[in-house]
Amino acid sequence: METKTKALMRPFALDTISRALTTLPGVGPRNAKFLEKLVGGPKVMDLLWHAPIDIIDRRFTPPVKDAPAGKVATLTVRVDKHFPSARRNLPYRIQCSDDTASITLVYFHARKDWLEKLFPIGQTVIISGKIEFYQGQAQMPHPDAVGTEEDRAQIQTVEPIYPLTSGITNNTLRKAIGAALTNVPVLDEWLDPAYKKREKWPDWHDAIKALHAPPGPNGLEPEHPSRMRLAYDEFLAGQLALALVRHREQRKKGRAFNGDNSLRNKLLETIPFSLTGAQQRTLQEIYTDMKSELAMLRLIQGDVGSGKTIVAALAMLAAVECGTQAALMAPTEILARQHAENLGELFDACGVRHVTLTGRDKGKNRELLLQQIRSGAAQIVIGTHSLFQESIEFSDLGLAVVDEQHRFGVHQRIQLSSKSKATDVLVMTATPIPRTLTLTSYGDMDVSRIDEKPPGRKPIDTRLIPAEKLDDMVDGLARQIQKGERIYWVCPLVEESEFMDVAAAQERYEILQPRFGDRVGLIHGRMKPNEKDTVMEKFIKGELDILVATTVIEVGVNVPEATIIVIEHAERFGLAQLHQLRGRVGRGSDKSYCFLVYKGPLSQTAKERLSIMRDTEDGFIIAEKDLDLRGSGEILGTKQSGLPGFKLAHFPAHKELLQAARDDARLIIDKDPELKTPRGEALRTLLYLFEMDQTIKYMRSG
Ligand code: ADP
Ligand code: MG
Repeated sequence: METKTKALMRPFALDTISRALTTLPGVGPRNAKFLEKLVGGPKVMDLLWHAPIDIIDRRFTPPVKDAPAGKVATLTVRVDKHFPSARRNLPYRIQCSDDTASITLVYFHARKDWLEKLFPIGQTVIISGKIEFYQGQAQMPHPDAVGTEEDRAQIQTVEPIYPLTSGITNNTLRKAIGAALTNVPVLDEWLDPAYKKREKWPDWHDAIKALHAPPGPNGLEPEHPSRMRLAYDEFLAGQLALALVRHREQRKKGRAFNGDNSLRNKLLETIPFSLTGAQQRTLQEIYTDMKSELAMLRLIQGDVGSGKTIVAALAMLAAVECGTQAALMAPTEILARQHAENLGELFDACGVRHVTLTGRDKGKNRELLLQQIRSGAAQIVIGTHSLFQESIEFSDLGLAVVDEQHRFGVHQRIQLSSKSKATDVLVMTATPIPRTLTLTSYGDMDVSRIDEKPPGRKPIDTRLIPAEKLDDMVDGLARQIQKGERIYWVCPLVEESEFMDVAAAQERYEILQPRFGDRVGLIHGRMKPNEKDTVMEKFIKGELDILVATTVIEVGVNVPEATIIVIEHAERFGLAQLHQLRGRVGRGSDKSYCFLVYKGPLSQTAKERLSIMRDTEDGFIIAEKDLDLRGSGEILGTKQSGLPGFKLAHFPAHKELLQAARDDARLIIDKDPELKTPRGEALRTLLYLFEMDQTIKYMRSG
C-alpha cells in the first residue's frame, strides 16, 4: 500500500533517477551494495549527490620533450619497440616517441599478449598518466588510460576523483555516475527567478552535471556557483519541510493547560534544591505555551547536567494537573530506565501514577502496561522513542517530551506531530547547537536555552595524555581508586563498526582485569539489555571502580559519584561527542577529571579539537568551534565532512545560504501554503529530491 501511494505521488519527472542503482549499466547487485554503502542510499538519485573531492586534469598535452616530471599529461606517441621482462620481477617496457623525444611505458606483472594488442608497433596511441624520470629518461608507469585518436575526447578530460570505500574503484564510480547523469531530467525551476539571476546560478540539471564535471580545481570549491545552488536547494528543501510542519502545527489547536499548580508545588517541595534562573525562565516559557490554545512545539537546549530533567518533570505535572497524560521518551533503554528511577520517586511523592514501557517489556506484562496507558490509569508514561513508532494508544496524551533530540530526526518529528492530534510537544537536547545550525534541524521550533548550571559544580580538569604515558596514568588511577573514586573508561570508536568497538573495549577490559580484578566491569552495545543493566547497576552502587565502555554511555547516564573519565583515542571522536562523554563526570560536588588519551601524530585539526576540549567546558563554544573545524581542514583527503545530515552543504561557506533559505521558505508558506502554484509544484519536486516526501504526505493528510 505504502509503495503504491508513493509511486502515485512522486513527480513523474523524477522516475529515471528514482530507480534502483542496479538499473544502471555495469552495476550489478554486488557493486550496488558497495555503492549504496558509499553514497548512503539505494537509488540513482543518491549517487548524484556524491560529489568529487579532487580532479585529475588530463587536458595538458605537451610534446614528450616538455613533459614535466610528477605531472599528469596526455601524450600522443608512436609505438617503437617492446622490451618484454627478462625475469618475472622485472618490468615489461615499451618504447614510444613523438617527433621531439622518446618515453618508456613501464608495466609490472602485465600479460605480454595483452600489451602487444594494446600497443601494436608503428601505431600512434594516446596515453594519459603521470610522467616520471628515471636516469634522465622519461617514463610513464602504468598509464591510466590508453586509446587511439578516436578515444581522445574520452581520455583528454578533467577526471573527477571521488571519496571511495573498499570494493569500489574510482573508475566504477565514475562510470556509474556518468550513466546516472545521462538520465538527469530537466526540472521546472523552484528557485525564485530574481534571486537565481542575482546569484548567477545555473539550472538544477546543469548544476548537477557541473558538480561531476568540474571544469578545474575551482569547480571543487564550495563557493562555485553550481555547488552554491545545490547547497541552497538542500537547505531550501529542509527549511520548507520544517516550515510546512510548523504551519500545520500552528493551525493545529492544542489545548489550554491551566493547572492549579498543586502537583508542581509538591514536586518543588520534594526536591532538595531550588531551580536555577535558567530553569525558571525556561519553565515560564513552557507554561506560557501550555496555557495557550495553540499546540506547543518547543525545544529545550541545555548542556549535560544543566538540569533539563526536572524541567520536563514539572511540565509533565502541569499536564497531569489538567487531567491528561504525559509521556517522556528517551533514546535508549538505559536512559529510559534511569529516568524512570530518578523521576519515579518524585512522581510517587506527588501521588502521580506512572509506568515505564520499553522494548524489554514483553508478553503479559506488556499487555498490562498497554492497558494502563490506554485506560488512562497511567498518568505518566516513561519509555523509549519506540513508544511513538509503535501503535501505542493513549487515553488522552496532553504532553509528549522527547529527550535527547540528536538521535531523533526531522522525519520522526513529523511522525510524532502527525500522530498526536492535540498534544503539546517538548523536545530536549543535550547537544548544544550553534544558532545557525538550530535552523537546519529545528527550523521554526521555539527554543529555550538552559545556559546556566546548578550551583556548586566544580570545573572538570581536562588533560591530554599521549598514549605512551598510558601506564603512568593507570598507576595514577589506581591511587585515585584507593581514595574511593569511580572511573569511566571509554574505548575507541572503530570506524563504522560496532563489532570492532566491542572488540577494542573487550581488549582493554582484559588488560585492566588482572590488575583491578572484579572491580572492573565492561559494558557495550552488543550486550543484552538486562546484562547491561546489571553492570550499570554495579557501577552505580559502587561495586565496580572502573567501567570500561563503548560509547553506549554517551547519552545521559547519571552516576554523580563517577569523577574520572578516560577517553582512549580521543583524537577519533568529534568535539560534540567528546563533550557529551565528558559530561558523564562533574555531576557531583567532587572535583572531576577527564583524561583524553591520544595517539600521535595528530593532524592540525585533531590538535585543535583536543585543545578546545582542554580549554573550555562551555558546550555552546565547543559547538561553534566544532562547526568551524568541520567546515575547514579535513574536507579533502579523507572523508567529506559536510554538515551533519547534509549531503552537499558545507559551513562556513554556505552559512549565509541557510538564512536565505529560511526566509525563502517562510515567504513561500505565507503565499502558497498548499504548494499549489506552479512554483509550488516545482517545490514539491524539490522535497522529493531530498526525500522530504513524508512532509508532503503529512500535508495531504491534514
Ligand atoms: P541534564 O540536563 O543533563 O538532563 P539532569 O536533569 O540529569 O541534567 O540534572 C543533573 C543533576 O543536577 C541531577 O542530579 C539533578 O537532580 C541536579 N539538578 C538539577 N537542577 C538542579 C538545581 N537547580 N540545583 C541543584 N541540582 C540540580
Ligand atoms: Mg538528561
